[in-house]
Amino acid sequence: DNPLLTPQRQPEDVDAALRPKTLGEFIGQEGARENLRVFIESARQRRESMDHVLFFGPPGLGKTTLAQIIARELGVNFRATSGPVIAKSGDLAALLTNLEEGDVLFIDEIHRLNPQVEEVLYPAMEDRALDLIIGEGPSARSVRIDLPGFTLIGATTRQGLLQTPLRDRFGIPVRLQFYTVAELERVVTRGANLLGIGIEPEGAHEIARRARGTPRVAGRLLRRVRDFAQVAGSPTITQAIADKSLTRLEVDKLGLDLQDRRYLMMIADIYKGGPVGVETLAAGLSEPRDTIEEVIEPYLIQLGLVARTARGRCLNDRAWHHLGLPVPQQPGA
Ligand code: ADP
Repeated sequence: DNPLLTPQRQPEDVDAALRPKTLGEFIGQEGARENLRVFIESARQRRESMDHVLFFGPPGLGKTTLAQIIARELGVNFRATSGPVIAKSGDLAALLTNLEEGDVLFIDEIHRLNPQVEEVLYPAMEDRALDLIIGEGPSARSVRIDLPGFTLIGATTRQGLLQTPLRDRFGIPVRLQFYTVAELERVVTRGANLLGIGIEPEGAHEIARRARGTPRVAGRLLRRVRDFAQVAGSPTITQAIADKSLTRLEVDKLGLDLQDRRYLMMIADIYKGGPVGVETLAAGLSEPRDTIEEVIEPYLIQLGLVARTARGRCLNDRAWHHLGLPVPQQPGA
């Protein structure tokens, strides 16, 4: 609903300017970062291509950024594409045959590759080979072409979206987590420095806690708050300016927007707090199920507002408090 808060990339996002360029500059994701550092270093020492990496986690957490960093630290080319863009197996073959030794090929939304294209990917990942069919009908024959060693980096929002045969071919699966408020404060402060505007720690805190655990959202909120600060003639982002601008932009204290509040209100109002199935919610909100499961729910669950149970979604006490409604008494409680 509120384009300011969607974790997905928007056309007006200028991600490049705020992107960290080295692992050292990359904030948060401690565990993933330390492991990647080891794999990068060992690949460099052996002078081999690094094993294939699969990043999974909600949009805007830094999957593309990390893939670029890996290529940079390995000292190889970075080639990027995405699942839906590779229509035919020939498109993928063309990409693969153009790689140089050690290159990183990044495939965003890899769960959306079509099955025929996936078939081409298996021997490429496993044997560094491409099996091509030349000709048609009875005279058709298969030729095997050797590929350079390369690192495939796939990104997907949820690990479960990938077929097992594809998932199993990634030696390095990496789950990205939502960022803590403290980490996002560092993302915001760093961003303000890069954009050349002053920011007080309380101002950074205000933006960070309303940024849905997501650096992409933090960067976007920062730019909008900067606009308000500039028009107000303030060279520095203070807590008051951040709070006032974000409230004007309908970003509430927890970083929820209208769409989140509609989701919560529907469970509260119509289903008395749940449990209610995701399909029912999707129909009621006129949102695709994917949007609910991948964009709306992860953050609400992370905040402890909503629980996903076998029987459906339920509101936790915290959600009732946030909506300003009394927590219903459980029968028999
Ligand atoms: P994804 O591929 O997971 O959707 P991106 O890698 O495109 O996310 O990151 C989105 C934005 O967030 C980029 O502008 C990037 O600069 C910023 N970003 C992501 N991770 C970090 C981080 N750890 N520190 C600072 N900025 C980050």
